[in-house]
Amino acid sequence: MQVTKVVGIKGVLVSLFFLLAACQGQNTDLVATKLIDAAKSQRPPTPSPTPDQGPGPTGKSNAKVIFKNPLYRSPQTSGYVLRSNSQGQYSVTPSSAINYDHLLIDVEITETRNGLLENQDFSVLTETANGQGQMINSGLQRAKPDAQGRWLFSSVGDSHRRLGQLMAYYWIHSQKQAFEGILPNSWHCKQRGIKVYSSCYDINGSFSQSQGLGPNAFWAGSDANLVCMSYLGPFESSYDASVYDHEMGHANIDYGTNGQIVQGRNYGVGCRFSRSALCCSSADGCAGAINEGQADVHSYIVFNSGALGEFFTNTSAGLEGRNAELNGNLTAQAMFNGTAIDPASQQAYGQYGPEIHLMGGVWGAAWWTLRNRIGSKNADKIFLAHLELLTGNDSFKTALGVILTAHDQLLNQGNLIQNFRSDITASFSKHGIVQ
Ligand SMILES: [Zn+2]
Repeated sequence: MQVTKVVGIKGVLVSLFFLLAACQGQNTDLVATKLIDAAKSQRPPTPSPTPDQGPGPTGKSNAKVIFKNPLYRSPQTSGYVLRSNSQGQYSVTPSSAINYDHLLIDVEITETRNGLLENQDFSVLTETANGQGQMINSGLQRAKPDAQGRWLFSSVGDSHRRLGQLMAYYWIHSQKQAFEGILPNSWHCKQRGIKVYSSCYDINGSFSQSQGLGPNAFWAGSDANLVCMSYLGPFESSYDASVYDHEMGHANIDYGTNGQIVQGRNYGVGCRFSRSALCCSSADGCAGAINEGQADVHSYIVFNSGALGEFFTNTSAGLEGRNAELNGNLTAQAMFNGTAIDPASQQAYGQYGPEIHLMGGVWGAAWWTLRNRIGSKNADKIFLAHLELLTGNDSFKTALGVILTAHDQLLNQGNLIQNFRSDITASFSKHGIVQ
């Protein structure tokens, strides 16, 4: 039997959910500091609620999940706070499970195989990574429906973490359905057999320690073909659907470009603050930032929300630099220079500005601006059409050209209601991205 292994894959480093710099000298506490900073900061005003345009309840129901994550619909809900010590070990507060069952909504689970949360595109699995990055039996049972065919699980008292498994299956499958509804053949993960580990590694475990991962998640590249999510005690990143819809965004563009997106010479360079983190070498961005930003857009589309990782960070603003709703005036130059102000913490990004997730936040914000300008239906169609035309040689400037090319193709095919060229250039120009 082939042993699935997740270390040694380039994708581990390029497709994390957020900044990887947890074990680099003076940055030992970077991730934790950022989490704590975010948690301590005052919450910005909650964006006015937008109607859910993602795949909501269908009328039929055989399951219950949380929409996006436990903090999205209920920002006053307190989630888990993660803190680290100088050894990079994390603690979680509270240490017992928070009951989120009142947030569960009725949904329908479809297209499963063998009575399990799997189909031809992907399987939700329960193995966990050992210190060598091999996936080994965790003892967790895979979720199954009850005798009436219902998938009903609780956020408390379930040692098999089945609500997390169900969340992963439902929101990834919903992502596929949403995309195929917007533009046929835009879901490139079809029949790929991707492995989604909803409890992939213990944040304090040896795999996390050896890789300096901390609380994070990643797509491990098409060779390993897996998505990996972290947990610590009752905290499960699989309760945050924006996380794996972002990771599946990496998978989608990886397959859509036949791996080209991560193979070009302009993916990223080692950051000055940490060689294990990737940075763009100029304000014109890099393919790494485009990849991270487009992965964020994958989440925007499903939830019609420009924030990511609210549950992860226990804030309503979500991950710093990544809330497109608060980054309407963010420019690539200001982020690259580090002078841009994080709306969550009210602090400048400083030396971290060029990092690909933060630069990707600018790319995502430009898409959000376009989405608001021409409507999600049009913007999402252009977005999905341009993905497979990108390569790892692209910068923000050339990728803008790619977007216009995809737009023109859709227009010529009669797939757009009108010409949006000037809206595209105006939206990206607002964020300092011009051809
Ligand atoms: Zn990512």
